[in-house]
Amino acid sequence: MRLRNIPGSREVITENRWCIQETQETKGTWHTIFGNDHPVRIEIGMGKGKFIMELARQNPQVNYVGIEKYSSVLLRGLQKMEEEPLENIRFIRMDAENICEMFGREETDRIYLNFSDPWPKDRHAKRRLTSRQFFHRYDQILKKSGVVEFKTDNVNLFDFSLEEVSKAGWHLNEFTRNLHQDQHMNQGNIMTEYEEKFSAMGHPIYKLIASR
Ligand code: SAM
Repeated sequence: MRLRNIPGSREVITENRWCIQETQETKGTWHTIFGNDHPVRIEIGMGKGKFIMELARQNPQVNYVGIEKYSSVLLRGLQKMEEEPLENIRFIRMDAENICEMFGREETDRIYLNFSDPWPKDRHAKRRLTSRQFFHRYDQILKKSGVVEFKTDNVNLFDFSLEEVSKAGWHLNEFTRNLHQDQHMNQGNIMTEYEEKFSAMGHPIYKLIASR
């Protein structure tokens, strides 16, 4: 999702009370940032934020951090927060490649990846958020019992991700090739913007949950 550049979006993000700056020292301080000891969960590539905001609404006893690479996209989420402020969310505009600079060891217990960019060229495989290089990063910040949850409509990216879970030495807890028809895995499912769009077009939605 790359919206047209919106002039001034970087400045809005720098001054926004819900946004943590990439330059800020956050490692090991997330409980202080939120002012409580609730678990911290991260969505990488949150887009306009529909999914993470609904999660935060439903689970006030959990803290959420939304990461998004582009300010023009993140801006849409911030606009929604002005209408309905949620105390248990923060946002960071950053490339998730640097995630280990923002979170310390075991600072999160769940990472959500929804409809991540497929990077179809082989030479770009390590940029995929489910590559072994990214699992290595998640390994450094996830609690021992933590999980990564991944949804997509892209079968090639899904098959690649299944292989990478195993090559990274992780364990596949469960997976489905048709989430919306899977009574067990679909329970409590919150649809993302892309999920609504692609399932309306008849695409099956794939999901996996992985842990160490
Ligand atoms: N998750 C949303 C959904 O399901 O509707 C948006 C999906 S969109 C295809 C992927 C999003 O991930 C885009 O907004 C993109 O900017 C963001 N993204 C891709 N790579 C990223 C990275 N390395 N770090 C942070 N955000 C990233």
